[in-house]
Formats: sequence, C-alpha cells, structure tokens
Amino acid sequence: MTDFITRFAPSPTGPLHLGHAYSALLAHDMARANGGQFHLRIEDTDIDRCRSKWEELIYEDLQWLGLTWETPVLRQSEHLATYQHHLMSLADARLIYPCSCSRSDIRAALSAPQEGVASPQTYPGTCRNRPMADRKPGDALRIDMAKAVKQVGALSFKEDGERHKGRHQLDPQRLISEIGDAVLGRKEIETVSYVLAAVIDDAAQGMTHIVRGEDLYQITYLQVLLQGLLNLPTPTYHHHRLIRDAQGKRLAKRDDARAIATYRAEGKTPGDIRRMVGL
Ligand code: GLU
Repeated sequence: MTDFITRFAPSPTGPLHLGHAYSALLAHDMARANGGQFHLRIEDTDIDRCRSKWEELIYEDLQWLGLTWETPVLRQSEHLATYQHHLMSLADARLIYPCSCSRSDIRAALSAPQEGVASPQTYPGTCRNRPMADRKPGDALRIDMAKAVKQVGALSFKEDGERHKGRHQLDPQRLISEIGDAVLGRKEIETVSYVLAAVIDDAAQGMTHIVRGEDLYQITYLQVLLQGLLNLPTPTYHHHRLIRDAQGKRLAKRDDARAIATYRAEGKTPGDIRRMVGL
C-alpha cells in the first residue's frame, strides 16, 4: 500500500494549456518522488461543454509530456448514479432544497435590501424553504449551509502548498457568509456539480493528496464540509501557484496560443514546457 495517491482531474472543455501542464507535471512528479500513484480523472459531467475531441487531446498531451498514470481512467460521466446516490443521502438528511432562481432573479434579490443576507456574493435564500418533493425539471439543488454546518462537528484540513501552508479549521460563520447555499445538483436532473463529484471520487479512489491550482483553494472549504457530511476522509491539499500570461492574467482554456498542442506543433519539447512553467 502506498501512502501517496494523487490525481490530475481536467474537464475536457478545451485544449490543455501551460497551467494544466504545470498542475499535471507537479502532481505526477510528487507521486513519483514519493513512490506513490498518479491517476488521471476525466471530469466530464457537464455534457453541454465537454467534447470527446478534447478528451482525446488530454491523453495525447499528457503522454507527450511523458506522464504515465494508473488505469483504467475514471470518467465521471460513467458514475452519475453514484453521485446521485450521495446527493440523495444529503436530501434524506434534509440538507438540500430545489431552487428555480435564475442568475437575474438572484441579482435582483441581492440588490434589494434584505434581512439575513450575509454577503453580496452568496445566494439570498429565496427557495430555502421549498421541500425536495417540490423539485421541478430545471431546478438546481442547493445545500442549506446553515443547517449543514450545524450537523457536522469541528472540521479542518491540512494544506501543504506554500501560500496557505498549515492546518485550517472550518469556521461555520464564514462558510455561511462566504460560500452560502452552493449548488450541488445542477439543473439537468442526474447531474451533480463538480464540487461534489470530485469529493466522492477523491474518496472512492483513495486520494491522499490533492494537488491543484490556487484558484480552487476556497472551494476546499466546501469540499471538506461535504466530506464531513458524507463521512468521507479528508486528504491533504496542496494548492500551487497559477501560471499567468504576460499581463498577469490566469490562463484560461480559450487561450489557445498557450495550448500544449500549439507548442507541440511548433516543435517545442516536453523539457521546454517544464522550463516554461518553472519546473
Ligand atoms: N475539473 C476541475 C478543473 O478542470 C479540477 C478539479 C480539481 O482538481 O479538484 O478545473
């Protein structure tokens, strides 16, 4: 048994860029240095945005970079029933509710003065008292954060990444005011948000270390809460710096100019990519 299991978990919604390469290489190198396992997981629950051509390119790019991973590769679209099962266990505990608010409904509710709205970013709670039996096609499912934090005891997680190194306690008040009633079940019935699917798979695959970009650091608080509610273990997290463009902006999938495939076509080597991301 190895005590270091990690993964790279891209969504096939566009070509991988330098930021993905850094994340995948770092996780892979850490696994190899620790005599551990490196998994590739395809996070393809968003059927509107995921394409098989992008998934194929992920395998090609990572192979070209010289990475090897455990097989079979877990593809989330093949496990939707498992995610639903966990989502329904939260429903049985009365921790989620159906929500029909559109983005503009939420904006309007937030701009009107209201009691009990802790932060202008969080959901104002319009649908909070709706029972699950009232779920209609097209409704999302939200977690009732105030109830959820009451159900779990004290939770914490260990962070190894440079910027937030240390052990972090979850503060119930901050979960309510800064994350609030997050969406866990998406509008398409049978589809859960990636935040929940990732937590379920990280546990199912026995992940001990989650190596990923700094942009996902805040989400960790919600994921650790979900681990507490679902009785799943909490891995160690390592959030790494983001690769930015010349203007200092985080790279996005639409930045095709920095796609690994583009560098490959230009004749760059995997060693060049490692140098470009500072490895
Ligand atoms: N699928 C997510 C992404 O493409 C990554 C989730 C994670 O690493 O936890 O950004």
